[in-house]
Amino acid sequence: MKPAVRVTVTGAAGNIAYSLLFKIAAGEMLGDDQPIILQLVEIPQAMGALRGVAMELEDCAFPLLQQVSIHDNPEEGFKGVHYALLVGARPRGPGMERKDLLEANAAIFSGQGKALNDFANPDVRVLVVGNPANTNALIASRNAPDLSPSQFTAMTRLDHQRAKGILANRLGVTVNEVKGVTIWGNHSATQFPDLHHANVHGEPVLSLIDGAWYKGQYISLIQKRGAAIINARGASSAASAAQAAINHMRSWALGTDDDWVSMAIPSDGSYGVATGIIYSFPVRCNYGRYEIVQGLELNEFSRQQMKETEQELLAEMADVDHLLPPETAARMTDPFGRAGLVNDIDEECLRAGSIVVKTDRIC
Ligand code: NDP
Repeated sequence: MKPAVRVTVTGAAGNIAYSLLFKIAAGEMLGDDQPIILQLVEIPQAMGALRGVAMELEDCAFPLLQQVSIHDNPEEGFKGVHYALLVGARPRGPGMERKDLLEANAAIFSGQGKALNDFANPDVRVLVVGNPANTNALIASRNAPDLSPSQFTAMTRLDHQRAKGILANRLGVTVNEVKGVTIWGNHSATQFPDLHHANVHGEPVLSLIDGAWYKGQYISLIQKRGAAIINARGASSAASAAQAAINHMRSWALGTDDDWVSMAIPSDGSYGVATGIIYSFPVRCNYGRYEIVQGLELNEFSRQQMKETEQELLAEMADVDHLLPPETAARMTDPFGRAGLVNDIDEECLRAGSIVVKTDRIC
């Protein structure tokens, strides 16, 4: 039996968490041989409801679930955590401007970044789901000076899955047959669902669909899918968001197979995207690390779409600038620490009988 890993979920009495927690405990996120300790975090007013959720988890008698604890503060809730899913966020209230929403959440996520820095396992992997997710992840990362920016990600996997599902439906194939879909940028209405590298059994998708449908309808269908579900269901897409969070963490921890996925990660300047922001890229994962898929050709249309969503993220960052500690700014230009890396095997490693074995592989 593997040793248990600690998983923290914030906003644990909320709608998304109500699907998410049971999937984590059942082994859907980290595999059916991985015991779990769940650390649930809520605001003090929601502790009563959270107690009820914890009781239900106990009642499921999940074989992998070794322990459940509930916390009304992130410092305790993040203690020793290996995987942190930050779901709780302040929803937009009546009369609240985008800037107010950013500010309200900035206060929450700067505190959580500090708590992760001080109490989490140094190897913690963080997924931000609570909106505005990309900028919340940036704020948390910038407030965690001892953790690498690469440990902080935000969720665009739901957009990625929506893009695959809707396309597969249009083409009359299964989602497994659709490969190479990418979501670029922000988890917002400016995101760019890119089909230029997508294929079905090697056949380029753009040769199978009408270009006018792609640009005129498909892109906005993906961008506005969340609102369409709220209109249809009278409630937000909590179950699919939970499934996407599971898939994001599972890919990161256990690897991607023969297709890439979309993850919002610190930009390292790939594809000309500004550094300093958390931007969604196509990535492949292996051995618990992710890597941006390189070498995709971008046409003028794609570049313009990618710029638009980049501009939005830069504007969000500017709005919360006063909450971003200046001393953590520089490392965002090299979020994976490549600049300082020396991959040459040094003399010590080569000497016969040396006890030093050095590897500098990253992310
Ligand atoms: P949900 O569980 O439905 O949503 C939580 C967050 O996820 C929201 O920011 C929501 O954004 C975001 N989200 C991302 N993708 C989706 C999607 N596809 N569908 C729906 N939401 C999505 O919210 P609840 O209000 O039910 O629960 C939130 C919990 O968080 C509450 O229990 C509350 O007590 C707690 N909370 C914790 C805070 C803290 O940690 N300090 C602060 C505030 C609340 P959007 O708003 O854009 O839908």
